[in-house]
Amino acid sequence: MALSLYVFHLFYKFKVLVLVTLCLMVLWATFSYFVDSRHEISKAKSMVEDFRKVTSLEDSQKEEEIESVPTVKSLQGHCPALSPYLRGASKLTFKATLTLEEVQKENPQVVKGRYHPTECSALQHVAILIPHRNREKHLLYLLEHLHPFLQRQQLDYGIYVIHQAGSTKFNRAKLLNVGYLEALKEANWDCFIFHDVDLVPENDFNIYMCDRQPKHLVVGRNNTGYRLRYRGYFGGVTALTRDQFSKVNGFSNKYWGWGGEDDDLRIRVEMQKMRVVRPSADVARYTMIFHKRDHGNEENGERMKLLRQVSRTWKTDGLNSCSYKLLSVEHNPLYVNITVDFSTQPKIS
Ligand code: BGC
Repeated sequence: MALSLYVFHLFYKFKVLVLVTLCLMVLWATFSYFVDSRHEISKAKSMVEDFRKVTSLEDSQKEEEIESVPTVKSLQGHCPALSPYLRGASKLTFKATLTLEEVQKENPQVVKGRYHPTECSALQHVAILIPHRNREKHLLYLLEHLHPFLQRQQLDYGIYVIHQAGSTKFNRAKLLNVGYLEALKEANWDCFIFHDVDLVPENDFNIYMCDRQPKHLVVGRNNTGYRLRYRGYFGGVTALTRDQFSKVNGFSNKYWGWGGEDDDLRIRVEMQKMRVVRPSADVARYTMIFHKRDHGNEENGERMKLLRQVSRTWKTDGLNSCSYKLLSVEHNPLYVNITVDFSTQPKIS
C-alpha cells in the first residue's frame, strides 16, 4: 500500500513536471515569435527605407516636373518604376542593307530625335550623348536598336550625336562635354547617358535612367566573354545625373586619341566621394560591333601621365574650360546632330 502510494506520488510529480515544461515551452515560443516579428518588421522597414532612398531621386524629379510643367502631362499618372513593355534579353541582328529611312519608318513617334511616352509621365528626362566620327553604319545599327529599347523603358529621351569635324585627333571626352552643354541649351535633362557608338545593349532590363550614384552600364560585352574588363572600368556606357556630372566638372578635355578619359572620370567621381554602381551582370550585357582602330584615334601614350595629375587638374580642366567651335546643330528625325571643330579653340559659343 505504501509502495503504491509512493508510486502514485512519483507519477503525480512527473505529471506536474511535464506540465510545467510544456508551459515554459509555450511561453518561450510566444516570446521568440514576438522578438522575431519585431526583427522582421524592422528589416522590412529598413528595406522600404532603402527603396525610398533609391526612388527619391525620381520623386524629387516628379515634384519638380509637376511644379514646372502645369500642363495636361502633369495631370497624368507617372510611369511605373518598371515598364510593362520590357522583354528581357534579345538576340541582336545587324542587317547589312539597313537604311536610315527604314529605321525612321519603324519609329514614327520619334520627332527631331526626341520621344516621350503618351500613356504616362516619364520618371526621368534622359539625354543620350554619342560621340561620333566616320562610323555611319555603327550609328545606324545603334539607332535601330536604341530607339525601340528606350521606348519600351517608357523614357522621355533625346538622342544627341556629337560629331567631330576636321582631322584633329579624336577626343571622345571633349565631345561628351560639348554634348552635355549643348543638350542643356535645349531642355532641362535630368540624366545623361554617355554612350559609345559601337555598343548595343542586349537586355532592356538594363535601365537607361540615373541613380543616386554614377552608374556604369557595361558589365560585359560579347567580345570579352561578358566579364568586366577590370575592377575600375568605367568605359563604354555610363549614366550620370546633371548634378553628378557638374560636380566632377565633367570630363577632362585633354585626352586626344584612344584611352584614359573614362578612367579619369572615375577618379573624379571617387574624389567627390561618390561610388560607381552597376546593374547585375546578367542584364548589363552589350554586343560590340566589330571594327579596327580608327585613323585619327590612335592610342594615347600620354594617358598614364594625365591620370596621375587628376587631383591637381580636375577643377580647371573640364566643363568650365571646354572651348569649341560649334559648326552646326541639325535636328534630324532620329537624332540631333551637333558638329564641332576642335582645331581652333575659341571661347565657348
Ligand atoms: C583605357 C580605357 C579603356 C580600357 C578598356 C584602359 O587601358 O585607359 O580608356 O576603356 O582600357 O579598353
